[in-house]
Amino acid sequence: AIIAGGCGSRSDDSLLDKAKSNNPEKPDKRYKIGISLPSLQEDRWITDFKVIKEECEKLGIELIYENAEMDAVKQATQCSSMIMKGIQLLILIPYDTEKAAVIVREAHSKNVKVLSYDRLIMNEDIDLYISFDNEKVGELIGKSIIEAVPKGNYVFFTGAPNDRNSYYISKGVEKYLKPLVDKRDIKVVTKEAIVDWNPDNAFNLMNKAIKDNKGNIQAVIAPNDGTAGGCIRALADNNLAGKIPVTGQDAEVLAARRIIDGTQLMTVFKDTRMLGRKAIEVSLKMINNEKIDTTTKINNDKKDIPAILLAPISVNKDNLDELLVKSGYLNKDAVYRR
Ligand code: BGC
Repeated sequence: AIIAGGCGSRSDDSLLDKAKSNNPEKPDKRYKIGISLPSLQEDRWITDFKVIKEECEKLGIELIYENAEMDAVKQATQCSSMIMKGIQLLILIPYDTEKAAVIVREAHSKNVKVLSYDRLIMNEDIDLYISFDNEKVGELIGKSIIEAVPKGNYVFFTGAPNDRNSYYISKGVEKYLKPLVDKRDIKVVTKEAIVDWNPDNAFNLMNKAIKDNKGNIQAVIAPNDGTAGGCIRALADNNLAGKIPVTGQDAEVLAARRIIDGTQLMTVFKDTRMLGRKAIEVSLKMINNEKIDTTTKINNDKKDIPAILLAPISVNKDNLDELLVKSGYLNKDAVYRR
């Protein structure tokens, strides 16, 4: 009756607001999620983001986003501002998986949930981690390369040291490499981490490795497609492209083209469309405090974090068309156009 009076007094308005906010159907009760991207250096982050955005649009979730451009301080500042804007949940892809802990602490202090996406945030009490099985990614890389090159001198590049995924990937690679190194069939002549997963850093390190080893290299382990591209550019400059197998990860279109052309041995396909969709599905459950089925737990040096890990798939020239083109993950023309 008070509201119907409509005389616009302050007390009437606040009652009206109260009525609205108690009604879940009203738009002001809409879900609001923030996503913080580490960079847009790799194509995959664009796909992850696109899918997440589409899912949010479909479900009427308001999505705000920021790109940290590989700067941990910037990422923290951007996340603070998204928290201030009233998000209920933050999808955080940490640039630096150790330093991101402060972001989680701040979010939690403001009752904002955090979904650690693709990269595991270390040393903090995370609500949930969703990713691909990164150790398995390393195993797929290791298995392909030792099958292609069971003996010889290896160059072993690892991912960015401030990305926990690099640790898991290397662990997976080592499972296959170590027995052959112990047998002295394989010799790791160069082992380096590629700062920021930067393709130009990979190019420079590969050039140096070629020089240091006078070209006597039989295999190159590159931790993702971007860095594989850098390595292959350096090999090409030394007339070695296509002669030395190089690994990768991410199923990028340029990698698919190199696999077809024979300059890259393989890549690892992680269907980021699936990851993005799953992330929004679990985000809503997290916001509503519903139970989430997780597949495993993963320790982040603070505690065991409930995790959902999707399965990565190894791709080479034999199954590339089926897995990457026919599935619609990559654009057919972009893959085959010459
Ligand atoms: C991701 C990879 C990506 C790399 C560089 C890793 O954490 O898992 O897919 O290539 O970061 O952005």
